[in-house]
Amino acid sequence: NLAPVRRALISVSDKTGLTDLGRALSDMGIEILSTGGSAAALRAAGLTVTDVAEVTGFPEMMDGRVKTLHPMVHGGLLALRDNAMHLAAMEEHGIAPIDLLVVNLYPFEETVAKGADYDTCIENIDIGGPAMIRAAAKNHAFVTTVVDVEDYAAVLAELSANNGHTTLAFRQKLAQIAYARTGAYDAAVSTWMAAAIGEETPRRRVFAGTFAQALRYGENAHQKAAFYTDGSDRPGVALARQLQGKELSYNNINDTDAAFELVSEFLPSDSAACAIIKHANPCGVATGTTLAEAYQKAFDCDRTSAFGGIVALNSTLDKATAQRIAEIFTEVVIAPGVDDDARDVFAAKKNLRLLLTPGLANTAAPGLAYRQVSGGMLVQDRDNGHLGMDDLKVVTKKAPTDAQMRDLLFAWKVAKHVKSNAIVYVKDGATVGVGAGQMSRVDSAMIAAKKAERMADALGLPQPLTIGSAVASDAFFPFADGLMEAAAAGASCVIQPGGSMRDDEVIAAADAAGLAMVFTGMRHFRH
Ligand code: 5GP
Repeated sequence: NLAPVRRALISVSDKTGLTDLGRALSDMGIEILSTGGSAAALRAAGLTVTDVAEVTGFPEMMDGRVKTLHPMVHGGLLALRDNAMHLAAMEEHGIAPIDLLVVNLYPFEETVAKGADYDTCIENIDIGGPAMIRAAAKNHAFVTTVVDVEDYAAVLAELSANNGHTTLAFRQKLAQIAYARTGAYDAAVSTWMAAAIGEETPRRRVFAGTFAQALRYGENAHQKAAFYTDGSDRPGVALARQLQGKELSYNNINDTDAAFELVSEFLPSDSAACAIIKHANPCGVATGTTLAEAYQKAFDCDRTSAFGGIVALNSTLDKATAQRIAEIFTEVVIAPGVDDDARDVFAAKKNLRLLLTPGLANTAAPGLAYRQVSGGMLVQDRDNGHLGMDDLKVVTKKAPTDAQMRDLLFAWKVAKHVKSNAIVYVKDGATVGVGAGQMSRVDSAMIAAKKAERMADALGLPQPLTIGSAVASDAFFPFADGLMEAAAAGASCVIQPGGSMRDDEVIAAADAAGLAMVFTGMRHFRH
């Protein structure tokens, strides 16, 4: 199963490591064919190279759109070396075998990420490269295909270990990588086109990510895991730069994403905001006149759960906030900016992961969300639903005051990011009780109130902060019982979608309890 490498074709956009590779191959006596820019770089390094144009008898033309698309190239890649007919065809047409293909593609993904215009993106769709990669990889019985600079060293090691040959197992492995690359490449083109032409419906879409990093393990230690990026330019955990701390884990990435998406609901021009997350659910969210105040209010919602949490901030992390955060064990802090003074505070906390994002996520932007199920994948629009005061309908005799209205909308924004069934109590721009992930809405309302009672005890408050709070429910109350539970906890106003068969009963119960209630007409399930 050893295949000799006597002739290589090198055509690369990313010229990293090119001359070293070329020299090593030359030193092994391997003939090198190459395209325009790659050939020029190899020659500049003093290597002998044959132009592909010389082999095909055609010049590179049409701005490089046609360089290697020729039977002299594809015949050399595809011919079965042990097939008499194929050998006869090679003989007849003067086609020489190509045993090693080294190609990396036009940087389409990078071009899109840079925000290039439509025509520039189109021009960066590589045609000849993927054609050669697919041909060489198909013929892996004889041909070695390299599509990634990272694999150059392995190829050279393989050739020297096998006296100028490669093993079948090695070629198979590289062929698998090659098809992953061409598949991801076309997926990137299709995804970009869908966005460029405004085709947002999740139909006939193809999904592929770019491998970003291997993770130590998955959700649990016995699960292998990796992180893939999708090329999106939306600020968030994938685009964040890690300034310090241990490597991010699978759970860190998942929770940091939840934290940052939530805090991005709050514009820094309105107020500083902080979200503290555990297991993808918020255990405290607050706004404040300063970031330190927002953090403190978020922390005070549920100090017990905040331990070992993920902290997301909507504005530049300053010294005062960093000092507060550093007082307890925190896994990750993510923010769109970090002061030097704040960095100094964290410098002593070697394990704390500090992530800097290029701005906040646009939570109203369109986009897709995926979830795997056995045998398939569910695809939907990201929940980018937003409400303003004008969208709310007062359904009770009592109408909320302006201050209540602000807290209701705050609670609603938070509820969108809490696993269903979600019940969120809010007072003065801070959550004071969060009930998440219960199978019954009544239980969520009760658990959130219980937590508020516990915090009141811990903080030595005269009464739980749910007294006089605003409460949000992510979906309608199917019966009055959930609402009554919130009323018992002291809520004074309610925001919920409405739309239950028993809305009348629920509204009557609210009126009887002296509550003000608004309907949103929009639901925020999150599972
Ligand atoms: P070079 O810098 O050597 O001039 O060009 C290298 C790039 O050209 C590689 O990314 C390779 O995939 C791409 N390429 C090779 N042949 C063709 C072709 O026939 N058409 C197009 N569009 N690109 C090609």
